[in-house]
This record gives sequence, structure tokens and C-alpha cells, in this order.
Amino acid sequence: DRLVAALADGEDRAVEAALRPKDLAEFVGQERVREQLDLVLKAARQRGGTADHVLLSGAPGLGKTTLSMIIAAEMGAPIRITSGPAIQHAGDLAAILSSLAEGEVLFLDEIHRMSRPAEEMLYMAMEDFRVDVVVGKGPGATAIPLELPPFTLVGATTRAGLLPPPLRDRFGFTGHMEFYAPAELERVLHRSARLLDVPLDAEGAAEIAGRSRGTPRIANRLLRRVRDFAQVKADGVVTREVAAAALDVYEVDGRGLDRLDRAVLDALLRLFGGGPVGLSTLAVAVGEERETVEEVAEPFLVREGLLARTPRGRIATPAAWAHLGLAPPQGTGA
Ligand code: ATP
Repeated sequence: DRLVAALADGEDRAVEAALRPKDLAEFVGQERVREQLDLVLKAARQRGGTADHVLLSGAPGLGKTTLSMIIAAEMGAPIRITSGPAIQHAGDLAAILSSLAEGEVLFLDEIHRMSRPAEEMLYMAMEDFRVDVVVGKGPGATAIPLELPPFTLVGATTRAGLLPPPLRDRFGFTGHMEFYAPAELERVLHRSARLLDVPLDAEGAAEIAGRSRGTPRIANRLLRRVRDFAQVKADGVVTREVAAAALDVYEVDGRGLDRLDRAVLDALLRLFGGGPVGLSTLAVAVGEERETVEEVAEPFLVREGLLARTPRGRIATPAAWAHLGLAPPQGTGA
């Protein structure tokens, strides 16, 4: 329920379909991935064949699902969407694979979370477009080979390093999705504002982009909350002042930190003089679970260069003191 969460919530899912770019030209940013993918797809089209399997790695909300849909659209192929956790038995995968149409794109989100037997079946399917379906149990079990139509697997994972090398090696192309620069998020926001019919000026877009943590999903979510505010408290137009006032109400600060992030930083600075302090102690100080601090708040604070994890504990950087408007204690070097 955090406004700055990178994972999709119910409302996101309901509106995201309308906001997804439909082709590569409309897809903002990720220049390198876009250019490489453009070549892969054009070459496949020229050969009149199916595109190579594609692995997309990157944080949630950066556009992996969107890109997989674009791959299908550019190839003029249908798409089937599923995820690693949904495929626990090899039989689940066999059922999906055997029902694919020729050239179909199979999008497998969180591919690193598939079960081992399913993963092994996938190896053969990716390489030879064939699976062995095991019928029966024990000594009487037999493997029936099943030919599959050629298809394109698009796998998505938060980190390519999470995949076993034999699986990683079977992808013809790996695209690493990066966090978006503020100027790119501004383009995403202008596009979404147009589709949602929200009057948004350049400075309003810049204000929202700066608070969106490099993530289009978050940018689109913040835009919706700012739109509500603009409608109820102003004249509907999203200017810098309106965006800033709206996001202050939702406690998302100028750099995209929310209440939890700031509570962690605040405790680290005010109670522990900037650290080093152990994770458990820090968690108790903010009244949160250890895991919440470690997995929900810290990754962004580390990425922003506000907090560092060291063997002696968590420490604040000079930027953290500056962000909270506090003076670092003398003689700490901070
Ligand atoms: P998850 O892994 O959590 O499913 P994801 O990486 O697949 O996330 P998407 O669902 O593709 O992310 O994108 C989230 C939202 O952000 C979508 O509404 C999409 O329209 C928007 N979006 C993502 N990337 C872009 C982009 N490059 N240009 C415009 N909009 C984008």
C-alpha cells in the first residue's frame, strides 16, 4: 500500500493496460535495449521466422511486461502471459507449451521462481522445440516426445544472475533494463497525461518525475494522485506547485522518499549519530520488522547514496544529513 512501491497494486493493474506503449517507437527510454531488440525483431521478420528467445532483467515497474507485449505486436504474433510461481509442475508447463500457436510469444515473468523440473523441461523446449511428457509413474513410466511449434520465450527476472547458467545461455538476447532518467520519466508522464486527459505542464511533470524513483509505474501512480488533488484543491491543471503540494500530502518528498524511508534515515541520524548501527537496532528504533527495513526501505536509500551497508552496520552518508537538513556531528568526517 505504499505510494512509492515498485510492484503493481490492484489500481495499477486496472489502468496500466491503457497506458502501455504499443510499439517500440512509443516506448520511452532504454535506448540500448530498444535498439538491440529492434535489430533482433527486424532480422527475424526479414527471415520470415520466429524471434530468438529474449531475457529481460530489471527492477519491477521498468516495463518488462510492456516490452514483451511490444515484441509480440512487432512480430504480429499472439502473446501468452504467465509467471514462474504459477508453474510448479512440469505438467503445467507442458500444457502451456503444447497449446502455443506457431510464432506465439510466451511471457514468463519471474522466470527464476520456476520449479526445477519445469525449468529442465524448458531447456529442451527452448532449444529443440520439443518436450518429453512423462506418462505413468514408477518403473512403468514412459516419456512421450511431443513436437512444439516454434515460439519465442520472453523471460523476465529482477536479476539475470538469479538464473542458472544453462537457462541463461539458452536466450539469444538479454536486455538489461535500467532505472529511467528524470527527463525520460517526464516523457512518460506527458504521454500518460495525454491519455488520461490530465492538463500537465512541463514543470509539473518535472516535479513528479523527480519523486518517481526512476520507475514509470511509480510515475504513473503519482500522476493519478496528483490529478485528484489538482481537481479537488486547484483548477485541475498540474503545475509544479500543485504537484509538490499534492505529493507533500502523500508524504512523498522531493527525492521520492516516503514516510518509512525518512523514518529510517531520521533514526540513523538523530538517534545513532549517523551510525554504524546494526539492522535490528535500527528496526526497533523505527518500530518496524527487520525485514521491512532491509527489504522495503534500504534498497532505495542505498541506491540514492543516502545509506551504506557496512560490516560494522548501517551508516549514513553526507548526502543523508543534507537531505534531512541536519548538520553532521563534528569530527566524524561525515
Ligand atoms: P513487473 O515486473 O512488476 O510486472 P514490469 O517491469 O513488467 O513490472 P510494466 O508492467 O511493463 O513493468 O510497466 C509498468 C507501467 O509502466 C505500465 O503502465 C507501462 O505503461 C509503464 N511503462 C513502463 N515502461 C514504460 C516506457 N518505457 N514508456 C512508457 N511507459 C512505460
